[in-house]
Amino acid sequence: MSASEAAEQQSSSDEDGNTPVPEDPTPVDDPEPEPEPTPEPPPPGDTIAWEPQTWYSITYACRTAGCRNENQVKFAPMFYSNDGLSKNIRVVDAADDACKKDCVILTADKLDPQPVEE
Ligand SMILES: [Zn+2]
Repeated sequence: MSASEAAEQQSSSDEDGNTPVPEDPTPVDDPEPEPEPTPEPPPPGDTIAWEPQTWYSITYACRTAGCRNENQVKFAPMFYSNDGLSKNIRVVDAADDACKKDCVILTADKLDPQPVEE
């Protein structure tokens, strides 16, 4: 036993009969705060509330890696929503040397007034 330990022993013996309450060994229930859920941004297109049989002006972009139109935002002044289901609302990158794959529709603005159908 070293000299300093002996000194502590001496000082604690002065508190005889005055035993400090031992600390509760139970860990405080302090769980990690729930991390804020980071919502994945919904894929573009699903956020657009398409109305069926409606004309829109849209912007769209090809997302095909390596395509010459990749990430080039384009504008279509007249785009028909068909039955309003997003699976039936598609823009194909159909230029001659493009990928011929579906583009992502970024925005859609309902035409007002709607063009008169012939
Ligand atoms: Zn493309």
